[in-house]
This record gives sequence, C-alpha cells and structure tokens, in this order.
Amino acid sequence: MSTDIDSILRSPKAYQWARKAIEAMETHKVWPTALNFELWLHYVAAKDSEVAAEIDTVLSSGEHFTDQMSEEIAAQHLPAAKLNGEILNAGKTLSKELDSVSRAVRTARETSNLYGQQLASASESFQGQDNDSVRAMVENLSSATRKVHEENQVLESQLADTTDELGRLRAHLEQVRRDAMTDALTMLANRKAFDETMERACADADDTDEILTLAVVDIDHFKTFNDTWGHQTGDQVLRYVASVIGRIGGEGARFAARYGGEEFAVIFPGERSDVALAAMEQARKEISSRTLKRRSTNEDLGAITISTGIAEHRRGDQPAATIEAADGALYASKRSGRNRSSLADMTAQSQVPAKQAAA
Ligand code: C2E
Repeated sequence: MSTDIDSILRSPKAYQWARKAIEAMETHKVWPTALNFELWLHYVAAKDSEVAAEIDTVLSSGEHFTDQMSEEIAAQHLPAAKLNGEILNAGKTLSKELDSVSRAVRTARETSNLYGQQLASASESFQGQDNDSVRAMVENLSSATRKVHEENQVLESQLADTTDELGRLRAHLEQVRRDAMTDALTMLANRKAFDETMERACADADDTDEILTLAVVDIDHFKTFNDTWGHQTGDQVLRYVASVIGRIGGEGARFAARYGGEEFAVIFPGERSDVALAAMEQARKEISSRTLKRRSTNEDLGAITISTGIAEHRRGDQPAATIEAADGALYASKRSGRNRSSLADMTAQSQVPAKQAAA
C-alpha cells in the first residue's frame, strides 16, 4: 500500500523529510518536479512502501531515474490512493455541509410550527380581551415573528455557504477527474480516458449509424532509441510525438491519447478511414522530417519515425475488435518496413491490412 502523502507532510518530521527528499533527488540527479518530489518523499519517509521499493529497484540497477519511470511508478502506486483520498475528503466535507443545513432546516421547521401554534392560540385569546392583554399578545407575536425571520436568515446564509462549498467541491473533483484521465508525461489523455471514450464513441456510432475510425500509432525502434540515448531523451521524444499527434488528432471531434509506453491512439468520430489516413500521414511526415537534438549535447538524434494502423469501426463490433483491427494494420506497417500507415480491410471476414501509405 502507498502511504498517504498528506500524513507525511503533516507529521512533525515534515521539513526534515522534505529536505532529505530534495537531497536524495539531487544525489541521484532527479529533477525536482512536483511528481518526483512526491515520490521521493515516499522514498525517504516510508522506506517500506511499494514506491520506495520501486525506486530502490531502479537505483540498484544502475539506471538513471527518468521522468518516464516516475510516471510509471506513480501510475501504478499513487493515483488511486490520491483519488480515493480526494473523493473521501470531498465526501466528508459534503456530508458535514448537508448535516449543518439539515440541522438549520429542522430548527426553522420547529420554530415555524411553534409560530403557527402561537398564532392559532392568539386568535382564540383575542376574543373578549382588554387593550393591555391584546398589546401583550401582539408583542409576543411580534417577538415570535422576529425569531422566525432571524432563523430564516441564518438558514438562507447557510444555504448560500453550502452552495459555494458545493461549487468549490465540484471544481476540485473535476480537476481530480481530469488529472486521473491525463498522462502526466505527455499531457495527452491516458489509457483510462481512451478506453472510456472509445467505448462511448463506438456506442454512439452504433446508435446513430455514424462512421468511426481508429488510428493506433507506435514510435519505431523506440526501445533501441532509449537504450542508445537514455530514458530522459526518450521522454522528450515521447513528448514531441505526443505534441504532433495531439495537435492533428485533437482537431474537431477527434480524440488523441497515449495508449501505452510508446503507443498512441486517435479516435475519429464521424470520419472515414481515408480522412484519418490523410491526417495520420500528415503527422508521420511532420515527425520524420524534423531533426531532434539531444538537449544535453546538441547531437542529432537521427530520424524519429512512426508506424500507424487504421481501422473503421464496424457497426455492432466491440471496441476491442476495432482496436485489434487497427493493431493488425499497425503490425502490417511494421512488417513492411515501418515509417508508414496501413488501413485495415474491414470488409473482409478476417480483418487484414489492405492499403499502405509509406515514405
Ligand atoms: P518543451 O521542451 O517543453 O517545448 C515546448 C514547446 O516550446 C515546443 O513544442 C516548441 O514549440 C517550443 N520550443 C522549445 N524549445 C524550443 C527551441 O529550442 N526552438 C524552438 N523554435 N521552439 C522551442 P514542440 O516543438 O511541439 O515540442 C514538444 C516537446 O517535444 C518539447 O517540450 C520537448 O520535450 C520535445 N522536443 C521537441 N523538440 C525536441 C528536440 O529537438 N530535442 C529534444 N530533446 N526534445 C524535443
């Protein structure tokens, strides 16, 4: 289980741990990003946590600790705990607010019942009374009216506070939801967001009889690239490819995501495979024609290329079938020499790649 970061930060040793975490990051040449800081706080403050064990594994392998590794460790051990904590806190705040409003409503209801009874008994007592008694009864009534009015004001102000607090909670939960759906390295939608969007998009396409196309993309020879240039440069390449795919795959109703390590996916609702092919070819050409530099030494990194597989969703197919068809086309691109895009033939019984576009 991962330790709750808040309990680390609220402990009397918080400053000591924060200093140790920064020292450890400096020793191991890890950038002090917010995410790394969180991970390394776990490392120094919760030595027996899974996060610490993961970091130890990387350190003992002699590998340099990269942003990609941080992302992977955090994705595995932190977001669920963070999300659960956030939701738990939001739930607690919400139920506190609702308790206090229902208490105020109860008090207001009791006062107003009492007021009704006072009015009823006053109207009976008015009959046959002298002036002084009537004055005393009117004073009683007006004091009861003031009380009802004051309690209504308290209730109104509590309702206004609750509405504000609910607005803040909603915005906060929305941010948490967005974070949980975003890949922190590339800032594209993550796999979870992709799975949900793909499921919905396929159901919508089936309901409306609309076209839907899916493209899956893989960076060619990424592992060799990482081994040659290091994970940090590998992370930069992922960011670069994500920036191009995010731009082209983010137009209109399209949806771009980081599907896995060096794999990306773009959903094209309402667009045919030839349009998706043209868009992905634009991305492929843009990526392969840019010369990236290794930032620390300014060396040329050689050509970065991508391979793509594209499939149209067939009405009634499960999302997994469309993904599999696009994957099949991607592997056809790989087999035919990479740096190209292939279309799956969705009319055939078994979905085999039909056409290819290459450099
Ligand atoms: P980043 O380094 O955070 O850069 C974000 C954006 O700032 C870049 O988006 C680009 O528009 C601009 N930018 C940054 N540095 C320069 C520069 O030296 N010259 C110019 N003209 N613009 C610059 P872009 O190009 O889409 O790249 C997105 C990310 O891809 C970058 O994020 C970086 O992580 C990676 N990347 C892009 N090109 C290179 C490269 O040549 N070498 C390395 N190592 N990474 C790169």
